[in-house]
Amino acid sequence: MPKKTTAPLLSIRNLRVAVREKEILRGLSLTIRSGEIHAIMGPNGSGKSTLASTLMGHPAYAVTGGGAALHGSNLLDLAPDERARRGLFLAFQYPRELKGVSLRSFLHAAYEAQMHDRDPEHKKLSPLRFASMLTGVMRLLQMDPAFADRSVNEGFSGGERKKAEVLQLNILRPELALLDETDSGLDVDALKIVADGVNRMRGPAFSAIIVTHYARLLEYIVPDHVHVMIRGKIVESGGAALAHRLEKEGYAKYGVKERIALDEG
Ligand code: ADP
Ligand code: MG
Repeated sequence: MPKKTTAPLLSIRNLRVAVREKEILRGLSLTIRSGEIHAIMGPNGSGKSTLASTLMGHPAYAVTGGGAALHGSNLLDLAPDERARRGLFLAFQYPRELKGVSLRSFLHAAYEAQMHDRDPEHKKLSPLRFASMLTGVMRLLQMDPAFADRSVNEGFSGGERKKAEVLQLNILRPELALLDETDSGLDVDALKIVADGVNRMRGPAFSAIIVTHYARLLEYIVPDHVHVMIRGKIVESGGAALAHRLEKEGYAKYGVKERIALDEG
């Protein structure tokens, strides 16, 4: 048996992924160890969301080469729910609506499923106990408690959807979170609240990949490693200072015109 304790949390080796016959990821390698926060920055269309969707097992993304292992075992053969059970969480760039399912019942069901997978002896929280935990986290995220009784994401603004993703992150407490542009569309106050929500999770048992277009979020969530993704590959890696350099210089040195310091508004 391989020594699983020494395997990195996530190991991506030379990953190639095609969408509708078009190759998007073109040999991407990345290693994440427990407790590390990694940021992936890159211009639009470089394949950041493709990486997130592939890691979560979205059926539209066909792996054509390379591989990815979670705790040393193959991740890419697992069904999406099995990946979630093994501790992977994805905050979507474009969170979807779940009509007719309240945020409260959605989160409670997801929470019980996760807790049961982690510990089959886990005793279910009563709706009342869960509600009080939920209210506590919502207060930290400065979300109106009334949101808990609304359908998931239905009629939520962009910023509210992003907060709902971080709420889910804080409730489920996954081992590895992939946050895909969780900062987009947030004003500075909301950005800080979202960053606090992620920072509260930091510790030896939590890792994250923060996908972002802008360095701004990384002022508040200081990453251990920053990677630059261009045309489906990581072309440079460094520490937190790399994000600042990218903000100043954009991606011109990689042959890309787009600047990244602009706000989307
Ligand atoms: P990023 O998140 O870095 O902006 P994406 O991963 O969203 O980049 O997109 C990378 C490329 O893959 C783009 O050219 C995009 O049009 C294409 N692509 C991604 N997902 C799909 C899809 N489901 N169908 C068709 N093309 C896609
Ligand atoms: Mg994207």
